[in-house]
Amino acid sequence: APGLYLVATPIGNLEDITLRALRVLASVDRIACEDTRQTAKLLSHFGLRVPTVSYHDHNETGRASELITALKAGARIAIVSDAGTPAIADPGSVLVREAIAAGVAVYPIPGANAALSGLIASGLSTESFAFHGFLPAKEGARKTVLEALRLSLASGPLNPGPWALNPGPATHLFYETPHRILGALEDVVAVFGPQHRIALARELTKLHEEFLRGTAAEVLATLSARPSIRGEMVLMLDGTLRHSDEDSSVKTIADEVTHLIRT
Ligand code: SAM
Repeated sequence: APGLYLVATPIGNLEDITLRALRVLASVDRIACEDTRQTAKLLSHFGLRVPTVSYHDHNETGRASELITALKAGARIAIVSDAGTPAIADPGSVLVREAIAAGVAVYPIPGANAALSGLIASGLSTESFAFHGFLPAKEGARKTVLEALRLSLASGPLNPGPWALNPGPATHLFYETPHRILGALEDVVAVFGPQHRIALARELTKLHEEFLRGTAAEVLATLSARPSIRGEMVLMLDGTLRHSDEDSSVKTIADEVTHLIRT
C-alpha cells in the first residue's frame, strides 16, 4: 500500500533485520536515509537495489515537503536511519507529523533499538521506564538535567490517581558516546551519590557486547581504569533514590517533598 514506512535496521549485528523489513525495503519506490552511503552498505549486503535519497537533521524540513508531495501522489517511501529505529534519537519525526497532517498512511516496521535492548538485559526495572535521548554534551547543562531528574524522582508520584497501576520508580535511559561517558558518570556520582544503581550497555548485539552493572562509583571505576573507551553505549539509571547517610542531600529533598505533600 502507498504510504510512509518507518523501517528499523540493525544496531550492529546484521542478522537483526526482520523479514518484513527486507520485504518492505525491496518493494518501496525509494528509501529516505540519514546517510545514503551507510544505507548503501546495508542494501548491498542484502542484495537490494532501491533508489535512495538523503534525509537528515540538516535537510529534514525541506526534504520532508518534497517527500510528502510524492507520498500524496501514491508513492511508497521507506525511511531508515544509520542504525536502529528511525525517529528515536534519529531523523523521522518531522516527516511522520507531516505525513499524518497530509492524510498519508504511516507504517511502523519494528526492529532493533539500542535503548530497549539495553534495558531488557540491564536488571533494572522494566515495568516503567523513561527514555531521554542524549544527555547534554556540556557539563553544566548535563548536571542541570541530572539534578532536575533527581528532583522529579525525589518528589515521587505526586498524584498517583485512581488507577490501580503502580509500576514503581521508572528506569531512566540515556544514549552516550565514548568520549563523554566518564564525564557523565562523574556527574551521576555527584548528583545521585556513589551508591546509586546503574547499568551501562556497550556495543549491543556486536562481538564485544558488554554490560556493566553496579553502583555508579563501581562502573565509573571500572571504565576509568581502561586505557581507552570505545563503542556506542546506553546509560541506565535506577529510579529509586538511596537514602543512605552519605547521600544526605537526596534525603533532604525527599523529606522536604514528603513534608510538602503531607501538609
Ligand atoms: N535510532 C537508534 C536506536 O533505535 O537505538 C539510535 C540512534 S542514536 C543517533 C545513536 C546512539 O544510540 C549511540 O550514541 C548509542 O548511545 C546508542 N546505540 C546505537 N547502537 C548501539 C549499540 N549497538 N550499543 C549500544 N548503544 C547503541
